[in-house]
Amino acid sequence: MAQTTPNHTQTVSGWAAHDSSGKITPYTFKRRENGMNDVTIKVLYCGICHTDLHHVRNDWGITMYPVVPGHEITGLITKVGSNVTEFKVGDRVGVGCLAASCLECEFCKDSQENYCDQIQFTYNGIFWDGSITYGGYSKMLVADQRYVVHVPENLPMDAAAPLLCAGVTVFCPFKDNNMLEAPGKKIGVIGLGGLGHVAVKFGKAFGHHVTVISTSPSKEEEAKDRLGADDFIVSTDAAQMKVCYLLTIYSTSYVSYCTEIKTKEVSFDCLDLVVDRQGRGKRVVKGSMTGSMKETQEMMDVCGKYNITCDIETIPPEKINEALDRLAKNDVKYRFVIDIDAQKPASL
Ligand SMILES: [Zn+2]
Ligand SMILES: [Zn+2]
Repeated sequence: MAQTTPNHTQTVSGWAAHDSSGKITPYTFKRRENGMNDVTIKVLYCGICHTDLHHVRNDWGITMYPVVPGHEITGLITKVGSNVTEFKVGDRVGVGCLAASCLECEFCKDSQENYCDQIQFTYNGIFWDGSITYGGYSKMLVADQRYVVHVPENLPMDAAAPLLCAGVTVFCPFKDNNMLEAPGKKIGVIGLGGLGHVAVKFGKAFGHHVTVISTSPSKEEEAKDRLGADDFIVSTDAAQMKVCYLLTIYSTSYVSYCTEIKTKEVSFDCLDLVVDRQGRGKRVVKGSMTGSMKETQEMMDVCGKYNITCDIETIPPEKINEALDRLAKNDVKYRFVIDIDAQKPASL
């Protein structure tokens, strides 16, 4: 569809999957001209999110091939439209999951456009002009200024890239529960992966007591010694989990963030939400989906303040398939980031 949209005149090199084999190959396509509200971005880095893997393999049955994945994008602005006031050429910027929303619903008007029911994503979405959106596994991106954020000067562009999805996803629960400026809470982080390791960093930066809950006992040293977690619980150990359950139920300040992406049923006695040892309680089970653009910028600024980035393994574009295979086996610490401009070695 994008190829036939009239103002899609800019030729871009990227990488796409063409069928459910998920194999990524170089792909040349068209992007729209830079409109009045748009910025054009030279893409420097793009993180590989688990969502990319689901899309290239059509795990959810919604993929429109060819799909150019990537929604953890950092780069430099090369062009701005006449209505753009917040950005200028040369600015260090990031683009996350969102490409468009209705701009008129209660969520859009309240800077919560990530909950707009007409939300369109950075790839595999349908933009306002009817074209299919293509993501950050590409050398250049045109984005509406509303869905672009500044990247603080002190953050490296490669390790900052995954903050655009993984970072904001775990930042919002802190923000939502007023835990940015109120230290001393107890937090449980379930799953120490791409999201979990950033959640630990946020938790410690904001002065909380952080417990990592993981299926892998081998991650304890890493969680405590390197990432600074205070406690570690092995989720397959029934005795340890019982303590964890009691903490969650009986403590008034225990917040657990599940960062695992497998779907799971959760069951609990609803009385536990209102009754504790003292005979009272006010507990909440809650979810959130990524974050708004306002929250994404706030998260970036907070990361600049505390010097928080993701732990990454950088790869050249030729290794995207290898990285996706390794990601499927959870063989990455903690996020792959594609160096979009990496030069091919002469031997290839
Ligand atoms: Zn993602
Ligand atoms: Zn809306």
